[in-house]
This record gives sequence, structure tokens and C-alpha cells, in this order.
Amino acid sequence: MLNSPSSNSRSLETFPIQFIKGVGPRIAEILAKKGILTPEDLLYYFPYKYLDRRRMTPIGELKGGGEAVAVGKIITAGIGFFGRGRRIFEVLLGDDSGVVSLKWFRFNPRQMMGSFKKGDVLLVAGMVTQFRKDVQMIHPTTQHLDSDVMADIRAPGLLPTYSAIPGLGQKTLQKIVRQILVQFAGKIEDPIPLEIRQKYEFLDKEETFHEIHFPSPEVDFDVLSRGRTPAMKREIFEEFFFMELGLALKRYHVKREAGHAFPCSATELEQLKQGLPFTLTRAQNQVMEEILADLAQPCPMNRLLQGDVGSGKTIIALLAARIVLDNGFQVALMAPTEILAEQHYQTARKILASANYPIALLTSRSSAAEMKQIRRLINRGIYRLVVGTHALLSEDVHFDKLGLALIDEQHRFGVVQRQTLKEKGRPDILVMTATPIPRTLSMTLYGDLDLSVIDELPPGRQRIKTLIFKDSERKRLYQAIGEITKRGEQVYVVYPLVEESEKLPLKDATRMSEELKLALPEVKIALLHGRVKEEERDQIMRGFKEGEIQLLVATTVVEVGIDVPNATLMVIENAERFGLSQLHQLRGRVGRGSKPSYCVLVSSAPEFEPAGKRLKVMTETGDGFRIAEEDLSIRGPGDYLGTRQSGLPELRVANLLRDFEILKLARQEAFKLVKLDPTLRHQPTLRSTLYSRWKERLALAEIA
Ligand code: ADP
Ligand code: MG
Repeated sequence: MLNSPSSNSRSLETFPIQFIKGVGPRIAEILAKKGILTPEDLLYYFPYKYLDRRRMTPIGELKGGGEAVAVGKIITAGIGFFGRGRRIFEVLLGDDSGVVSLKWFRFNPRQMMGSFKKGDVLLVAGMVTQFRKDVQMIHPTTQHLDSDVMADIRAPGLLPTYSAIPGLGQKTLQKIVRQILVQFAGKIEDPIPLEIRQKYEFLDKEETFHEIHFPSPEVDFDVLSRGRTPAMKREIFEEFFFMELGLALKRYHVKREAGHAFPCSATELEQLKQGLPFTLTRAQNQVMEEILADLAQPCPMNRLLQGDVGSGKTIIALLAARIVLDNGFQVALMAPTEILAEQHYQTARKILASANYPIALLTSRSSAAEMKQIRRLINRGIYRLVVGTHALLSEDVHFDKLGLALIDEQHRFGVVQRQTLKEKGRPDILVMTATPIPRTLSMTLYGDLDLSVIDELPPGRQRIKTLIFKDSERKRLYQAIGEITKRGEQVYVVYPLVEESEKLPLKDATRMSEELKLALPEVKIALLHGRVKEEERDQIMRGFKEGEIQLLVATTVVEVGIDVPNATLMVIENAERFGLSQLHQLRGRVGRGSKPSYCVLVSSAPEFEPAGKRLKVMTETGDGFRIAEEDLSIRGPGDYLGTRQSGLPELRVANLLRDFEILKLARQEAFKLVKLDPTLRHQPTLRSTLYSRWKERLALAEIA
């Protein structure tokens, strides 16, 4: 037999899980596929919900006339008939005490046959009705359970349910967790400093694990489901605490990093402003002051510039660029797409024309030879401003003296990319985002950045009138499109999907562009979607910008920053399938000029249903922040930003919205701690935990 290491000498996070009693090589392999390698990994594999066995009724005791919850095994399942050949789907569910009949009158046969099979274990909830001795549940809520919980269901208390690991039953998982808790009893270190634990009267780590995996029988089920037991609250705190600790450290050290100072006197700034084609708004002036102060400091700026679509972020960025250029440094301006990079390039050439700085455009469209040449000139410091896509991040791009990096539309870039840019010469960094991020999120997402907000639009902007059209009002819509294009204005029609899928019967963009061509033969229509090749896509976009194409049917590829002032109507099909913030972004593509602009949301979602209510918000407000708050509260932060793209750390138990109050406390404590001990020299445990958990996710630099 292998010499199994003793759990005394190895800790929770290094002991190979294979040597836990009851695991062995086969199960270890299964766990490894889920990234569970150590006992600690498994202890953090928290149940995602619990079954309240206290509320379960044995099937034999079900009676008509009330709500009930029960668990049983499927004895038979199939389609039956009743009345005049009307069909019914029936499942007989039994346990050792009796049988209940589950009935569905409206159903999709294929789907039902596929999901209910003899032998399946089901949790059912709903009204129980009784017809003589026949006990039945009509259209109950059902949930499949692992078959091995059947034996367990009569035990007292709460039963943890883990998200499934193929090849491993719930019961086995529970057993292993229990075994770990026994084997490591008294040896689980608590990563939260004692003073903080005492201050908030937290459970210790070991108890916390116990309570999360096997809650005490007296715990209130609702409190548990809402994540508000003492154990959950502590765990949520811990998760936030380490995240905030990482952010605090980062921020602290950035403020002390060496960087460059780019002074600009008030008179110089005044002169630069005089050279602009318009007067800055109050909000733009305010933000400019904040940026100016940062630029003047020798430590690097790390600032997030937030502003609704069309609020005029680009001009602010270019003013900052001008100041840095005048100080003899280079500037990089990074955009998320080729088209946007090109648009910025054109704007930069216009706005900076008087200064005559050589400006390069670097995208992956440049040929290899061009690319090489451009890179050479960047390296030699000849090109002073470089506008580009993520091609700028490439290892072969070396700047001579990079002073400022401007990043547009941050939600497509993550923390790590920011870091990459940083390594190209410790530039000041200004991130621009049009996604109005509620403070709840920006505080954590960009916790290491200072925040500037442009909270007003340039004068003379028309509010975009937003209307909801039902599918049946299509004729009227086509008429309107006809009139608008006749006036020489342009139209976007946006679809959520490219092709009709079986599951989501959406009118797809391809079919609709054909339909539009038939309905509006005189209008020049083009179709743009994700599968159109890049070259062709750029060509179409250019055609639209130059007015050769009047109507652009597109999937969401037009979402980001395209500026076509002559476009005055945005039609969004199947609008209920988009998030509100996305709708807001899309809507922001029109109303960029002086002409009245419209947004039509096509949706047949009834007004009184949640989807319809959501859309109504769009007709009521043009305020991106309000829309974002609304969206966030409906969808949650993960969906809202697309967790992986955004660089938002994935949280195991905490929820940014629900747990905002805990977040504030955790942040306070973390920042306080870093202020007292900026290298965590006196907190070695804290330090190692922080690095093992957050180093990758926050791109933390190693601190001395
Ligand atoms: P954002 O990037 O914030 O969406 P842009 O910087 O593209 O917005 O600005 C949108 C439009 O408004 C541009 O055409 C720009 O020239 C114009 N603009 C910016 N600031 C002002 C201002 N203070 N007054 C008038 N027009 C402005
Ligand atoms: Mg922009």
C-alpha cells in the first residue's frame, strides 16, 4: 500500500485529496476534473441549495386540499387519454408509504417523455387534490434529484445539494466532506484576523464549513435560502474581504509607483480648449480638472472615466493625450474593434491636427510588412500617438516613451489587459466606459481606479423618442422606415440572433433583410452579422457611414461606439431578449446629430409581464444610470457584465447586489488593514491566503 501522508504534517490546502478516507485514485480523478485537488477545494465546493426534509410529507400521508412537498421514485410515466381523446401526461410517483399521481394537461410530449423516466427520483411541490382514494397533483413543480438521496430523505434536518459532479453521487460527496471535517478537526486555520472576527462575532472557519455543508437542524429555512445564516454571512464577508484586500494593496502600491509628471498650466489648457470645435460642458470641464491633477503628479494615473453614450468622452481623452504629447511622451489609444479604432484615428487626426504629431493606426488589418514598419517607428518614438485595437497589447509593440494609455469601452477588456499595457512603460491610464456602472459594481470592479463621471450630455441633444411596437404593427413600421429613408436619413434594424434556432423561434436577421428588401424595394439595404468576414464587415460599415447604405440590418455587432450622425431610427427586434443596458447602448447609436431621432422596440411581450415592464423603462427614461440600476437588479452582476469578459472576479458565495452591505464592511476593514500594514508583513497568513486566492484574478504584483 502507498504510504499515505498524515494529515498532521500536511495542511488542508496541500494534502492530496486522494488520501482522504473513502476517496482513493478513482474518485480523486473524478474530483480533479472539477478542479478539486485538496480537502480545502472540496470544503469550498459549497452546496448550492438545501432540501428541507422537515417539510417533506411521506407520499402515503398526502391529503387533498393543501400545498405539499414530497420526494419519490417514478413508477411509471407516459401519455394517457381522458374525455374526448384529450391527452394527458401522467407520472406515478411512489415511496415506501404510498403512491401519488402527477398530471399535466398541457405539455410537450417529446420533452416530457425525455425528462421523466422510470426510476428517476423527483422532488415535487404543489397543490394536492383528492378524488376518492386517488391522490393527485396537477401541474406540480418538479425537480430531479440524485437517486441516492432517496434513502436519506427521511433523516431529520436539511440535506445539502451540490451541483452535480458526473460519476459521483450526492451521498458520496457528503461523506467525503464529513470525513474531511473529522480528519482536520481543530486544524483548520482561520484566514480572517482575530480582531476582525471578534469585532463582528464571526463563527470560526471550521464551524463555518460545518454549518454551510451541514446546517444545524434548527436553522430557519428561509434565512438559509437567502444566505443570511451566521455561517453564510461570515463566508460572504471573507470572500469580499480578500477581494478588497487585493484592491487595497493594488491601489496603495500604485500610488507609490514611479511614473511621469505631465504638467499643464491653466493658460495652456485654455488655449487647447480654444482650439476645439465646441465648448466643453460643465461635466467635461470638471472631469478635465480631475485628469489634469492626476497628470501633474509623478505617480501614474489610474482613472475610470464613465459617461453615457455621446457624453463626449473621446474629446476629454484626446485633450489628455495632447497634454502628454506636449510633454514629449507617447500616447496609446486602444479601442475594442477595428472600426472604432479607425473612427478614433480619424477624430484624433482632426482634433490634434494643429499640433502635427505623427499618428499611427495599428490594427490586425495592417499587413505583416506594414505592421513591422509601424512597430519600428513606434519603437523609435517617431509615431507619437498610436491608435489601435488589442493589437497594441502584442509583445512586439515597444514604445520609446509611453506616457499615457487610453482605453475605450473597458467592459471588453479585463484587469489583466490593463496590466499588460502598464508593463509597456508605466504609463498613466485612463479607461473610458459607456456602460454606466452602478456604484455597487464600479467600487469592486474598478476598486483600484479613481472615478470620474461625465453626467450630462452636450447641449442641443434631442432626447431619443422611444416607442414599443407589437409584431402586428410591422406595416406601420415599414412605412416609417420608408419615409425616413426618403428624407435622406438612415436606419438601423438590430436582431438578437443570426439564425433561427429550433429552441428560440426568432425571426432571424437574414430572413428579415429579405423581407425588408421586398417591402422597401427602393431602399439600399445591407446585412451585417457576426459571420460576415471582417473585410466585408468594414466595407459595409464604411458604406453606412458614407450614406451609400441607407438601412443596416445587423446583429448586435453595431453595439459599440459607431458614430453615424445621419442615422435617426433604431429598430430593435425581439427587444425583450436584450438586457436594458444593451438596449440603451444600441439606442445611443442614433440621436448623434441635430435631427430628431427615434428608437422602436419591437416586442410582443405583454405590458403587464416582467419582460414588457422592463421595456417600458426604456420609454420612460434616457438616463443610462437608472437603466443600469434597473438592469442590474433584474439580471444580477454576472449577466450584466458578462463575468469573464469584464474581469469581474467570480464570487463563490457572495452576491454584489444582495450583499452590498457586507461588501461595504469588508472593504472598510481591508483598506484599514492595508493602511496600517501596507505589505502585510505582520499578517503572513493573510498574505499567503490573499495570493493563493486572488493573485491571478486581480493581476496582483508580488509585493516585497
Ligand atoms: P462618447 O465617446 O462619450 O460616446 P463622443 O466623445 O463620441 O461620445 O461624443 C459624441 C459626439 O458629441 C461627438 O460627435 C463629439 O464631437 C460631440 N461632442 C463632444 N463634446 C461636445 C460638447 N461639449 N459640445 C458639443 N458637442 C460635443
Ligand atoms: Mg465613445
